[in-house]
Amino acid sequence: MIPALLPTYARAPMTFVKGEGSWLIEADGRRFLDLGAGIAVNALGHAHPALVKALTDQAGALWHTSNLYQIPQQQALAEKLIEHTFADTAFFTNSGTEACELAVKMARKYWYDKGQPERTDIIAFSGSFHGRSSAGIAAAGSEKMTKGFGPLLPGFVHVDFGDHDALHAAITDTTGAILIEPVQGEGGIRTVPDQCLKGVRDLCDEHGILLIFDEVQCGVARTGKLFAHEWAGIAPDIIMVAKGIGGGFPLGAVLATENAASGMTAGTHGSTYGGNPLGCAVGCAVMDHVTDPAFLAEVNRKAALMRQKLEGLVAAHPDVFDSVRGTGLMMGLKCKAANTDVVTAGYGALVITVPAADNVIRLLPPLTISDDELAEAIDRLDAAATSLAAA
Ligand SMILES: *Cc1c(COP(=O)(O)O)cnc(C)c1O
Repeated sequence: MIPALLPTYARAPMTFVKGEGSWLIEADGRRFLDLGAGIAVNALGHAHPALVKALTDQAGALWHTSNLYQIPQQQALAEKLIEHTFADTAFFTNSGTEACELAVKMARKYWYDKGQPERTDIIAFSGSFHGRSSAGIAAAGSEKMTKGFGPLLPGFVHVDFGDHDALHAAITDTTGAILIEPVQGEGGIRTVPDQCLKGVRDLCDEHGILLIFDEVQCGVARTGKLFAHEWAGIAPDIIMVAKGIGGGFPLGAVLATENAASGMTAGTHGSTYGGNPLGCAVGCAVMDHVTDPAFLAEVNRKAALMRQKLEGLVAAHPDVFDSVRGTGLMMGLKCKAANTDVVTAGYGALVITVPAADNVIRLLPPLTISDDELAEAIDRLDAAATSLAAA
């Protein structure tokens, strides 16, 4: 008999009833150190007082109206995002994959309005992840995501991650955009080197095509800049945002330049819930924290500390771990043991990590994690690795 919950998830057996900062707590009081943060969602940790206040204040006043009317919280969040980024305009969604949908529509409408409607193709990369909607799975293109779900949305061209020649060769007169994660999350915490990201920007400029960054996972201060592409000193035309921006409230966004967004006129796109007062009130509180230069400096300081400790962990367990990778507090441990076994051993040691492709475990702690908690996290990972070696 099919379970009450559609069985699309392979869930771990823990049931958390409370969150406090970097900690997730079960009913029996067991406390797990959370290096997953709901897959880079709880950027400010669990139950951050400023987010609880923003949510409960708004909940007492007004939950939902409609995008038929003015929504001041949405306006305020758009203005904060524009102030701190390359973008001129923002649209709010409830998720990352909805941001992907709009990014694709925006790119196509751009070319349609420019009188080049044949430019429908979007070049994307192997190992990428852009969500589970029809556009999202077609964009990622992996068999794992697409098998059995055809016919797939046409217009996506796939290039191997890191294959510069193939990328150049893939550009034709039907190419409209390149879509790339500056740091692949699901793909195994694979950072696109700054020179390569610059190269992609140059390539887009040369051919006059749009550059779309998917920063759903690597954005919102995760890498130590508000958005990961800032490390390369370049800007996209369109960016997809979600996960961290809501700090746990379902919220996403597409940010774009005025030029890239020029096709999206009244009536061309919409969402019932996207940008509702609750989500945007929380999003504003998240932005107020993550745009503070002192906050970003702390993320970078802790990232350096964490990397150093992880290098020590790898050296201490050469049979379990291969190497450290990642940027900022978006870290990965490439494993020699099966990554899922390492994650499970972590549960035994009361530390939460997240598996990714390429036999990597992801470490995406709340950006607010303390130095003591980081030290404790390494102790628990060390215990997990020791238990694996003994098994
Ligand atoms: C999680 C993720 C998405 C999809 O976001 P949802 O909110 O799950 O729809 C898209 N792109 C990247 C890079 C992601 O990590």
